[in-house]
Amino acid sequence: MNFNRAVIKVGSALVAPTKTGCSGQYTLAIAQFITQCQQQGKEIILVSSGGVAAGRSLIHHGSPKLSVALKKAMASVGQMQMMANWQRFFDMPCSQILINQSDLEDRKRFISIKETIQIQLENGVLPIVNENDTLTSEDLTVGDNDNLAALVAQVCEADSLFILSDIDGLFTKDPKVNADAVLIPDIEHITDEIYAMAGTSRNHLATGGMKTKIQAAEKAVEHGINTYIVNGTKSEVFSSIWAQKNPGTRFAADKDIIKAKKHWLKHTLKSQGKISLDAGAVNALVNKGASLLPAGIKSVHKNFKAGDAVELIDHQSNRLIAKGISLYNHTDLARIIGKHSDDIANILGHNQSNVIVHRDDMVIL
Ligand code: GLU
Repeated sequence: MNFNRAVIKVGSALVAPTKTGCSGQYTLAIAQFITQCQQQGKEIILVSSGGVAAGRSLIHHGSPKLSVALKKAMASVGQMQMMANWQRFFDMPCSQILINQSDLEDRKRFISIKETIQIQLENGVLPIVNENDTLTSEDLTVGDNDNLAALVAQVCEADSLFILSDIDGLFTKDPKVNADAVLIPDIEHITDEIYAMAGTSRNHLATGGMKTKIQAAEKAVEHGINTYIVNGTKSEVFSSIWAQKNPGTRFAADKDIIKAKKHWLKHTLKSQGKISLDAGAVNALVNKGASLLPAGIKSVHKNFKAGDAVELIDHQSNRLIAKGISLYNHTDLARIIGKHSDDIANILGHNQSNVIVHRDDMVIL
């Protein structure tokens, strides 16, 4: 279960389990897991449901069957409670990003969301995304957060998507009514048979069910993103993840997609220059899946533009270790060699990015 950048989707049943507002019952352990991920250099984007569930007790309503207008009013007031509930478990700052699926279909808004999240991750901020429920045009069933999380994972070019709910994963039958239901640990291909296993089980305060989780997995794996459905009510699930054991159902990423991007970087893009790295940077790139920072650069060779492919060379052995896309041109880069990323803006008068070659745009050779 290796991952460097993951979207973690948390369902309403975990945020507001008693349906009377938010609780730390499960979110505390989830927050601790996210903090540990960050301490290990992993990047996390949280997609949190729970607005409706958290706001339910704050809006007068009659029957348990809620109208769409009531749900929107609950979602909007519950959003505040839900964000406050998350922030109390983190020392790092949290940001609130409210979007609708249509925002991701619009190229400009897509880029805006991508850039916002990228800068926040570089600054140690935890982005927390939810659907902007007040603005959903049809009803709250248009956008469930499982599918939204898969789209967010694509926007951020995450390598993994964790869908946390109150069920262990996908079973051969609905385990709530079938004692002989068996958990399926690994799914290589999502077929009609897999969808049939999902049944129609739902939680009336959340929008999704097992079906939307499989739809989300299908969207994500097509983009090379490993997807896991795990039980976020069990804290031992997080120990299993650290122990590299799959605690739920894993949907394997389409390897052809990953291969195609790496292949394009490796074989199709022609290198226009070279960057030599110190031993620390070589180790960070090769063993930790890190991006290249200016601090680890020893020298820059040849004229290349920002956006060109460059070869990354081990300064000591002169060995070619990786190839990637440089976000800075060679003149700018020569001025920030060995410097801390925080100094880039002072030296150059601008800062496109804290990293020189992002790990998403790099292939280790
Ligand atoms: N956006 C909804 C909320 O905050 C949740 C949608 C879902 O459960 O998938 O309550």
